[in-house]
Amino acid sequence: MEPSPLPLTTHVRTARPADLPAVIGILRAQQHAFGFIRTVAVAKEIERGEVLLGEREGIPVGTAIFHHRRDGITTLHAVAVRPDVAGTGVGRALLDRVETLAREQGQRCVRLKCPIDLPGNGFYARLGYARLTIEMAPKRPLAIWLKELPPPGQRRRGPPTFYLSLTHSASEIRQIMRLWDAAGDPRDPFRHVVFTPLFAEKATFRLIQQLKQDRGSTVMFDSGGYQVQMGRIGFPDLLTRLLELYRTHTWADWYVLPDHVPKSTDSDDEVAAKVNDTLHAARFFLRHLPDRFAERALAVVHGRTIDQIEQCLDTFSALGIRYVGFGSFTTAGRRGSVNQVNKLSLSLLSKVYQKASQLDLSLHIFGVGSPYHIRCFQSQDIIPNSFDSSGWWKSAGFGNIFSTDGNQMQITEMPSARHTITEAKKAMNRTNHECNFCKNLSILRKIRIYRVMHNLSIMNELVHSWRST
Ligand SMILES: [Zn+2]
Repeated sequence: MEPSPLPLTTHVRTARPADLPAVIGILRAQQHAFGFIRTVAVAKEIERGEVLLGEREGIPVGTAIFHHRRDGITTLHAVAVRPDVAGTGVGRALLDRVETLAREQGQRCVRLKCPIDLPGNGFYARLGYARLTIEMAPKRPLAIWLKELPPPGQRRRGPPTFYLSLTHSASEIRQIMRLWDAAGDPRDPFRHVVFTPLFAEKATFRLIQQLKQDRGSTVMFDSGGYQVQMGRIGFPDLLTRLLELYRTHTWADWYVLPDHVPKSTDSDDEVAAKVNDTLHAARFFLRHLPDRFAERALAVVHGRTIDQIEQCLDTFSALGIRYVGFGSFTTAGRRGSVNQVNKLSLSLLSKVYQKASQLDLSLHIFGVGSPYHIRCFQSQDIIPNSFDSSGWWKSAGFGNIFSTDGNQMQITEMPSARHTITEAKKAMNRTNHECNFCKNLSILRKIRIYRVMHNLSIMNELVHSWRST
């Protein structure tokens, strides 16, 4: 009997150390293209997260090795496909993923070399690569291929990237990852995560490093400006400790520069001083970190006036920073710990958005609390490149569940429980929401982690269906 052909969907993921034999096997089958393959070198590339594995039904069928250079060029060292599935889209899936990863890193282009006598050259031409030149290498001539990636300004059209804000213990994060994976929703919210390494538990720090290795997650280091705001550390202290940390841990994708966060109760002079502190800190960090650091830095815009906001954006742009963040929502509550979107902050955000677009800067919004905030941004036609949120987790703790229309409902208070469950059911039906965690609303009422998961599912759904109203 003929073996049935493998199905045509290729699942691409970051290779793990255990995949080394599979990767080597695929490369060796293409030895004529790559020459001698050094296992030790490939093992190192896997450790650095620079190797992708393409699978069909769990069977490795292809691999790609790449490197994001600090000058904005992503080099592709190898693309190899098992001979029996050649020409069925595995190579294309691998290359698509490399390009996506490169774009997410803000890289300018992907470049590769291919011996001119190999059929691979036609493949690269079909995928939109341009042949730059022929390099006369010692063994045989190599064609140099290059594909430009669209600049940030043109990327703003797609939905924003949702960075999961992981501020919890490693065991809790593991629990929500397990629950998410078991539910089988392929829209993986753990692909982009942000946390504050300076104040995270060691186990959380290690878990996030692991996430980068195993899941290929994009990791953003937050600065801990919030901790200054809460009075847990002084701003000068934060600068010293953060600089040391950023020097030591070079594996993150994005580094948030330290910001001195104004409070709504601050006087105008105090706000002005904090804006100056923030600008000064950005210059200080760029001076003391390697040349290419600016390309991975995310600088936070602060200010109460349009002038202050413009001053921030102009300064950051002049420093070579390409990614800016906004988090100046009005602070309320104890020590200003709760972010609220009001008219003033929304109009400032709108200004930041316009000016950042003009300067071709990408925009991140910090601390998006709930679906309501997202609806506010959409009503103003604000489409950031990314945002982060931990509100889905916090709200669940207060007994609140989200719905995609922007509302949230308190469902744990005893007296009104029956009433709210009926209301919640109606809301889920009205918004066509379905997830594994809210099938039984009585359980949702009793178990916090189910509310956490449902809220996460709602946030994820909103991102994937992002639209302006
Ligand atoms: Zn749900």
